[in-house]
Amino acid sequence: MTGLGDPIPVAVGLPSVERAIVLFSRFPGVGRKSAQRMIHHLLRQEKEGVVQLLHALQALSDRVGHCTVCHNLAEDERCWICQDTRREAALLCVVEESMDLLAMERAGLFRGYYHVLGGRLNPLGGMGPEQLNLATLEARLQTGQTTELIIATNPTVEGEATAHYVAQMASSLVPRITRLAYGMPMGGELEYLDESTLYQALAGRRNF
Ligand SMILES: [Zn+2]
Repeated sequence: MTGLGDPIPVAVGLPSVERAIVLFSRFPGVGRKSAQRMIHHLLRQEKEGVVQLLHALQALSDRVGHCTVCHNLAEDERCWICQDTRREAALLCVVEESMDLLAMERAGLFRGYYHVLGGRLNPLGGMGPEQLNLATLEARLQTGQTTELIIATNPTVEGEATAHYVAQMASSLVPRITRLAYGMPMGGELEYLDESTLYQALAGRRNF
């Protein structure tokens, strides 16, 4: 007998802090250490900063949903793109996620409308065609308004499989189906390109 009794579990942190760290570390690219840093940053601030963050998150939860037409993020029934009547109704661009739509918009070249699939086919990860926003895409195409469908899924194995699936589904509904070209990144140099990018750039070459 040592007289010390059972060891008392040592509290490594405050439960509220620990809970917040666990939640923050679920963000993509954020590990436990970064989450810890964020929480401690918040706690060092005036309460006002935390309350503002709280309100912003509350607004996300209350107000942001999905566009009933294209499934982009929206605060109204239709997103800001679907509400913009100056766009070309004949052009429809299919993307995987709202983030991809934003990237296309930043490029500033595309003036048509979008359809956000909400992911990409990945049968092993539980993403089948039923999990994607394909029924609404088909319904949109059936109106006959689209003359070109641009498939802008990512150049990954799953993105490619998704592109093929969409193209097949749309083949009898749209006169023209195109896919974003693969190519060399701007500012890139041939010798640093991986083979598959170079192969795709060569296969997708066009007249000068
Ligand atoms: Zn929309």
